[in-house]
Amino acid sequence: MKLREHFRRIGIKWRIFAYFAGFTAVILVLLWVFQVVFLNSFYKAIKTREIRTSAQTIAKNIDSDDLSAVVQNLSQRNQIGIIVSDQNGVTYYKEDSLPNSVISRLSLFNLAQVYAATEAQGGTYFERLPRSFSTETYQHRLEPPKIESIIYAQIVEKKDGTNLMVLLNSTISPIDSTVNTLRVQLICITVVMLILSLLLALFLSRKISTPIIKINAAAKILGTGQYDVTFDETGYREISELGQTLNYAAKELSKTEALRRDLIANISHDLRTPLTMITGYSEVMRDLPGENTPENVQIIIDEATRLTTLVNDVLDISKLQSGTQPLSREDFNLTESIRTILQRYSKLTDYNISFHADEDVTVNADELKISQVVYNLVNNAITYTGKDKVVEITQSVRDGRVKISVRDTGEGIPQDKLNDIWDRYYKVDKEHKRAQIGTGLGLSIVKSILDMHGGAYGVQSQEGSGSVFWFELDIL
Ligand code: ADP
Repeated sequence: MKLREHFRRIGIKWRIFAYFAGFTAVILVLLWVFQVVFLNSFYKAIKTREIRTSAQTIAKNIDSDDLSAVVQNLSQRNQIGIIVSDQNGVTYYKEDSLPNSVISRLSLFNLAQVYAATEAQGGTYFERLPRSFSTETYQHRLEPPKIESIIYAQIVEKKDGTNLMVLLNSTISPIDSTVNTLRVQLICITVVMLILSLLLALFLSRKISTPIIKINAAAKILGTGQYDVTFDETGYREISELGQTLNYAAKELSKTEALRRDLIANISHDLRTPLTMITGYSEVMRDLPGENTPENVQIIIDEATRLTTLVNDVLDISKLQSGTQPLSREDFNLTESIRTILQRYSKLTDYNISFHADEDVTVNADELKISQVVYNLVNNAITYTGKDKVVEITQSVRDGRVKISVRDTGEGIPQDKLNDIWDRYYKVDKEHKRAQIGTGLGLSIVKSILDMHGGAYGVQSQEGSGSVFWFELDIL
């Protein structure tokens, strides 16, 4: 357990190195096992198969005029001794490319014996001769064979009805010198492979791990709140993508951070101004009875409302973005809902607020949140519309979707700011105007709500002639 924990803590570089080194070790061990341990059995299997196929080839060509060439060819190519004889041991063909072949020393009588033995076994005869052997068949050998060999005999019938025996002999142990050569080769290969693979493992592990280590270091800096850190975007694809993502995150964080600082400055201003007004007017009204007029009370109410909006916006956005407010979807009449919202503005008689809808549509959405979207867009339009004070809300239905557009005739928004306005705390006009008090959160709330609903939204704006904010929802 402890060891495992320890291994987990080892850096990526050494880990990759260990994997590579392990992989090489496995390959080398396999190589050794196959070359040294199994060499003999491989060799045996191959030779045994070879001798059988050679016998079959001769059997096929037994009536051919080229038999002698076939026998010679097979003998040389496979290094086997071949004898073709009849049942009396009379040899017709004899080829011996095998040094010290055991069959080459067989007498006429011996061959006849082998023939008889083969016939007795049903036409084929196979015998494996160990290193030192002594069978009567080989009484005449001059010296004991040094290596294991096999003999294989097959009785073949010629066209004319006579039978011949094909007798083959081959060694089945690799010659010692071959084994030695292989061993030396293997040792060389092992050493070279080990050095090469260790170097390669070191190189690769460094190459793979360096960018990760760099990104990790930069991320630690980012963690301390230094948002101006840049992540390396070079290297292989995943790492460069990670670098890009982190750079993007760092940029967004620093943007939010800057906007948040602005907001705190703004909010403290925004909070202080209405509070000063409320306190000021209340004091005047308390001290001077004649000042206790409905206009003054209205000012206090207006300022209190401003404060409420501000506090609500801040609360809404933090709730929405922390995901603690799930959607409660239900079917409701969107058109009716918008009409109700617009009634709240009926007191603004100097504004020309209109709503155009051909039909009532029902959507499945969170009514409260969608109302907030409409409310925020209409509020903005009222705040930013031009001197004619026109605000036009239009509902149109197409392809199973309803589109709500809110148009104003104000100054519009510069093209390069169109993307930023959806960000938290963003305000196009940084200079603080009392008439345009806002938190810079309204559109960010709109965006969060519509994103949660999966609805499309956007804005078209022409500087000088106003903006159209719109969103779409699926209808039932
Ligand atoms: P705010 O509370 O400041 O209105 P919003 O998130 O609603 O915050 O809007 C962000 C900024 O987008 C505003 O400060 C304003 O500059 C700009 N904006 C939003 N709506 C309009 C509009 N209808 N016309 C012009 N500018 C707008």
